[in-house]
Amino acid sequence: MAGVRRVSRRDVLRGMAVAGLGAPLARWVVAEERPAQAGARELEPVPVSSRPRYPAIRTSEGVVQPQRPLPVLEETDVLVVGGGAAGFAAAVAAARAGVRTTLIERYGYFGGLWTGGMVLLVMGTHAVVQGKLQKTLRGIGDELLARLSKLDGAIVNYGEDRANPTVDPEATKIVMDEMVSEAGVRVLFHSWATDVVMDGERPCGVVVDGKSGRHAILAKILVDATGDGDIFAAAGAEHEQRLHAIGLVHRLGNVDRADRERLKSAGFGNLGSITPHPSVTWVNLRGPSSNALDVRELTRLEIQHRRAIWERVQALRKQPGGEALFLLDIAPQLGVRISRTLVGMKQLTRTEARESRTFPDTIGVGGADAGRGPQWPIPYGVLVPKRLDGLLAAGRCVCVDEKLIESMRLIAACLVTGHAAGAAAALCVQDRCEPRHVDIGRLQGLLRQQGAYLG
Ligand SMILES: Cc1cc2nc3c(=O)[nH]c(=O)nc-3n(C[C@H](O)[C@H](O)[C@H](O)COP(=O)(O)OP(=O)(O)OC[C@H]3O[C@@H](n4cnc5c(N)ncnc54)[C@H](O)[C@@H]3O)c2cc1C
Repeated sequence: MAGVRRVSRRDVLRGMAVAGLGAPLARWVVAEERPAQAGARELEPVPVSSRPRYPAIRTSEGVVQPQRPLPVLEETDVLVVGGGAAGFAAAVAAARAGVRTTLIERYGYFGGLWTGGMVLLVMGTHAVVQGKLQKTLRGIGDELLARLSKLDGAIVNYGEDRANPTVDPEATKIVMDEMVSEAGVRVLFHSWATDVVMDGERPCGVVVDGKSGRHAILAKILVDATGDGDIFAAAGAEHEQRLHAIGLVHRLGNVDRADRERLKSAGFGNLGSITPHPSVTWVNLRGPSSNALDVRELTRLEIQHRRAIWERVQALRKQPGGEALFLLDIAPQLGVRISRTLVGMKQLTRTEARESRTFPDTIGVGGADAGRGPQWPIPYGVLVPKRLDGLLAAGRCVCVDEKLIESMRLIAACLVTGHAAGAAAALCVQDRCEPRHVDIGRLQGLLRQQGAYLG
């Protein structure tokens, strides 16, 4: 191993600048709205951005995309695609292991479904081990929760002997920003990975679309943390695809002023689950089983669910006891539970999980959904494509059987597989090997060094 690279202050500043976080350091925070001061550069004309034009062309055979050169935005060691729970942990783990790490995310914040989808309850943090409730989520995921516990109004129900805390989404985004920046990860928000760059049979980068146009990012190892397996699918890895309930979460305000008993007796029992704020709850609506890879379907559900939520809250407000309630917000991200899952070197089954089966290549441990149940070791093979090299999967799209999907997609498990995928990707770079050839002993050593729990 090339040794753990020390992160200098300059690295941190550079990381923050890339993440757009330089401003607070320079004491230039978003100011209150007031007329521009003399000398401000607001509305100052700048040269029009020039970029080569390669429009698609309509031909008699259909619409054709002409061959075009792509500018390479950067070359890195590990490229993590997707900044949800899994991608966040993967990027921090890889960067802390001392390799150049870039993280790209289609939206403008980290957390994915956890923050943007407002799925605020972190399930699977604990399990019953030898008769005692024990924390199974450790390492980078637990460090994030511990940091939240130091902030006012950021987390509730967090502790060694308390399973499944609930977070505030904005606090979580901010602490994720901090941890990613401190680790020296280079971040690109507002960047959709729309394809892969292949070197023969092996992916070696992604094509990214955004306001800056289309460009390529090249990397030695990719981590697909898109949740939907966008990258391994584009690279040709074998995978499965499923329909699942697609919902939309919203938050209610003034819940502490509602008469719950009266509302319940009128048939309005679901006022949601607790958050760190006594007056606010988050409400999880399930939705129909549908195809999360069909944008027309996603659009239809978004509009339909938003209308249903609005009408539901209006109905609540008309009930005696519900007058003070209001719709605080609707999650900016639709609640996609599952779409693609990888066909990996190993498929973990629910039977193995229920039996707490141990594996020589364990890279983390899943906890019990409701906190009371056995721990289940997670083998490395669930992250590694059966045939494709150059890539690891992390989060809700890793390789499990149908019956274990509901447990593997919980936030704690996504943090665990993300952490492991990032550490493994770093070792691939340092040892110049493919993910399937990673030295498991060294990987487990690195994970333990980074605080992970391996059972
Ligand atoms: C309605 C609902 C309720 C749930 N309830 C709970 C619960 O109570 N407790 C619990 O623990 N879990 C719950 N879950 C599951 C859990 O929230 C998710 O499975 C988990 O957060 C997934 O994390 P992830 O990092 O794997 O994926 P995601 O959170 O989906 O993150 C993927 C990230 O990649 C980005 N991305 C995707 N494609 C691209 C691309 N092509 N280019 C660039 N960026 C891309 C996305 O914007 C996102 O930030 C629930 C899920 C849903 C939908």
